[in-house]
Amino acid sequence: MRSDAGARRRAGCACQCRRVAPAQGGSVSAVLSLVRPDLRDFAGYKSARSEALRGDVWLNANESAWANPADGEGRSRRYPDPQPPALRARMAQLYGVASEHLLVGRGSDEAIDLLVRALCVPGQDAIVITPPVFGMYAVCARLQGARIVEVPLVDGETGFIADLDAIREAVLGQGAKIVFLCSPSNPAGSAIPHDGISALARALDGKALVVVDEAYGEFADGPSATTLLDTQANVAVLRTLSKAHALAAARIGVVIGDADLIAVLQRCQAPYPVPTPCADVALEGLSDAALTQTRERVALVRSERARLHAALERTAGVRRVYASQGNYLLARFDDAERAFRTLLAAGVVVRDQRAAPQLGDALRITVGSPVQNDRVLSALGEDAAGGASAPTGLVVVGAEAPPTETMS
Ligand SMILES: *Cc1c(COP(=O)(O)O)cnc(C)c1O
Repeated sequence: MRSDAGARRRAGCACQCRRVAPAQGGSVSAVLSLVRPDLRDFAGYKSARSEALRGDVWLNANESAWANPADGEGRSRRYPDPQPPALRARMAQLYGVASEHLLVGRGSDEAIDLLVRALCVPGQDAIVITPPVFGMYAVCARLQGARIVEVPLVDGETGFIADLDAIREAVLGQGAKIVFLCSPSNPAGSAIPHDGISALARALDGKALVVVDEAYGEFADGPSATTLLDTQANVAVLRTLSKAHALAAARIGVVIGDADLIAVLQRCQAPYPVPTPCADVALEGLSDAALTQTRERVALVRSERARLHAALERTAGVRRVYASQGNYLLARFDDAERAFRTLLAAGVVVRDQRAAPQLGDALRITVGSPVQNDRVLSALGEDAAGGASAPTGLVVVGAEAPPTETMS
């Protein structure tokens, strides 16, 4: 799959980490110039599976000759392909790009981590984020020792808006390597217009990578930012099977971008990042039949989102509900603590956003099934009508309460 595999094999060293032969002509593409200089010729781990060898008796990776009793057909007996070709091809088709522009990993969380590690020199480089926003960008930057530059979303008439001029100035002023744009934004719900993203990417050409996290892209009105990739090499897009495709536990996400950048990220990735059972369920989950059902459910979520939004706006104690392009609604309450506890007492767990900047009175409510959304509304409605007693200290959560989310 990788044309430089032969050159890399010849350059192998005893410690199994290798250097890639220098690019022909020695010039560095604009996007590769954003990669950490010490990683540009880093070849990563040379796994047994990535050798282009032929044979019918495979004794090169210390795998067992027999299947585990729990593994009926022995699908998990051998190390998987680092990029299971059928899954990679199917996801490339789904997102409308060529396979070499896409890297499959353990959720988009891994893609975020790879991008920060590959581009940011510890103790020197920075990323730009737009709080209130998804927490993983800052977590990965912190782990890498990269500075975090915050350009807050601006809370206006139409909702939370990314200040693209301020972002551009922050990147240029602080020498940041990556801008993380979350569109639709978690938790704010707003999407960023493509002309703005594309102008930002042009202004940052050769200076920074603009990453558009589209974890909720399926629920949005507009097209994917992958449409910008043809004209802007310094744009990368994150997609995931965790949200609309209902496969969060399979941990499958992708980064889509410039082919040279994708190759660098793959060399920084763990040797076998996509477990076979996960690749199998993901591929099945992207069959034509499954996709049809996923699309129907996305349509249902979008109509439920509108219904829940309208009903929440009519609910006493709700100050503001933000327009959302995702599968969640961000709402401000007169007393968010009380609303949170009222919902909990009814067995409904929502995301408390009060610790996030600008969101001291806000909760984020995932749009569920119609029945689940009714539970939200009746809990809040009853409380407003004084029907349910306001919880006092002890909150009894139903025994069947769903597990709380961690990062999402
Ligand atoms: C949920 C979420 C992710 C994480 O997705 P995984 O593919 O499960 O790692 C990434 N970005 C945003 C904005 C999210 O809300």
